Amino acid sequence: MRTLITGGLIARADGVFNADLLIEDERILELGERLHERAQPDGTQIVDVSGCVVVPGGIDAHTHVNLTVGGAHVSDGFEAGTLAAAWGGTTTIVEHPGFGPQGCGLPDQPAAYLEEAEGQCRVDYALHGVFRHVDETVLEQVPGLVAQGVPTLKAYTTYDGRLNDEGLLRAFAALKDAGGLLAVHCENHAITRFLGERLRREAPRDPRSHPQSRPAPCEAEAVDRILKLAETADAPVYVVHLSTAEGLARIREAQRAGRPVIAETCPQYLLLDESAYAESDGLKYVMAPPLRTAADRAALWEGLADGSISVAATDHCSFSLAQKRAAETVFDCPGGIPGVETRLPLLYSEGVLRGRLTLPRFVEVTATAPARIMGLTSKGRLEPGADADVTVIDPGDERLVRAGNLHQQTDFTPYEGMVVRGWPRHVWLRGEPIIFARRACGYTGQGRFVPRSL
Ligand SMILES: [Zn+2]
Repeated sequence: MRTLITGGLIARADGVFNADLLIEDERILELGERLHERAQPDGTQIVDVSGCVVVPGGIDAHTHVNLTVGGAHVSDGFEAGTLAAAWGGTTTIVEHPGFGPQGCGLPDQPAAYLEEAEGQCRVDYALHGVFRHVDETVLEQVPGLVAQGVPTLKAYTTYDGRLNDEGLLRAFAALKDAGGLLAVHCENHAITRFLGERLRREAPRDPRSHPQSRPAPCEAEAVDRILKLAETADAPVYVVHLSTAEGLARIREAQRAGRPVIAETCPQYLLLDESAYAESDGLKYVMAPPLRTAADRAALWEGLADGSISVAATDHCSFSLAQKRAAETVFDCPGGIPGVETRLPLLYSEGVLRGRLTLPRFVEVTATAPARIMGLTSKGRLEPGADADVTVIDPGDERLVRAGNLHQQTDFTPYEGMVVRGWPRHVWLRGEPIIFARRACGYTGQGRFVPRSL
C-alpha cells in the first residue's frame, strides 16, 4: 500500500517546510518537494492536503484509559479511549496502570493490562509499570520488566501505594541499573492529609476544598525532595504532570546543574486555573495535582517553550461527572479528567496559533520528545524509515468544544465552550488511515503493543 500526501506543510521538531510525504506499507518512504510530479505505481493513493499542516502522529505519554480505583472504573476503557485518541490525532498512548492489589508483584499490573488491551486498541499502545511497595522481590523484578519493553515505572509520593524516601532511592537505583527510568507523581502526602482532614470537617462538599488541600508547596516540596533523591542515586528522573511555577523553578535549577531531569505537563495546567473550582460544576476539575493560578499557567507555557518542560501529555482519566457527583465529599471524588482527544487541537490552537509555541516546538512536545524519552524508537518523527504515523491538522477547522461532539466516553469535558482551531482531518497509523476526511475508518484491534527500550 502506497500513499502520497501532497501539498501540505511538513512540521517537524527540526523545522517546517513544504514537501510531499510518501508512505509505503507501514513506513515513511520519502519526503520531497515534488514527489507528486513523479509517476507513481498504480494503486498509489494521492491525498491533497493543501493548506494543512502535516505532523507526526501524537504520542500521549500519560493516559489512564483503563483505570479502576476503589471499585470505580473509568468510563472509556482501551477501545473507546484509543478511538478518542485517534480522533484527536494521537497514534500512540503510553498507559499508566493503576495500583495492583496489595503485595502484588511488579509484573502483575502490566501483564493484566496487556491482556485487557489485546485486540481492543485503535491506536498503538505501550505500558508503564507502577511501584506500590518496594522490597527485595520487587527490586529483583525490575530488570525483567525493563527487558519486556516496560522500561518506565511510576512511583507515587502520596496515596496508599506511596513509596517512602528509602523506597524511592532503591527504586531509582534499581531502574538505573536496569536501563530504565522512574516517573514520579510528586505531592507531599502529609500536607494533603493534614489539610484534607481539616477541610473534610469544615467544607466537605465545596469543590474549592480540593485545591486547598493540595496547595502549591505540596507539589514543590515533593519535587524538591525527588530531585535530591534522584541526585543521590545518580539516576535520571521524569516528573509527571508538573503543575506549579515553584516546582518548575526547582526543576530548572537541577537541569542547570546538569542533572538528567525530565518534566511533563498537561493541557489542563496550561489552560485552566483554580477559579474553575468556584463554578457550579466545580467537581469536574477534581484531579491531582489540582488546577493552579494564572501565574503558574504562564510559567508552564514558558517552560514548555524554552525546553525545561519536555513533554505535553494528558493524564487522561475519564471518570464521569456523574461518578464525581455521587461521591459523599470532594475528598471521595474519583480524580481525573478526560483529554486524550483534545490534546493536539488545544495545544495547536492555544499554543501555536497564539504564539506561545513555535510549530516545531509543538511537534517536539506532542510527539518527538515523548517518543524519544519513552523509547518508542520508530515513532514521533516524519522521516524515511519511521513508522507512518501521520496526522494532518486543518488550521482552518474551528470548532466549539462540546462534550457531546467528542468521542471520549464521558459526560463532560473540562474545555466545554472553548473555541479551538486546528483539528485533525486525516490520521494514519502505520500507513493505514484511521481517520480520513474526519470520518473514523480504522478498526478495533488495529493498534499494537509497542515494546520500548530506552
Ligand atoms: Zn496519572
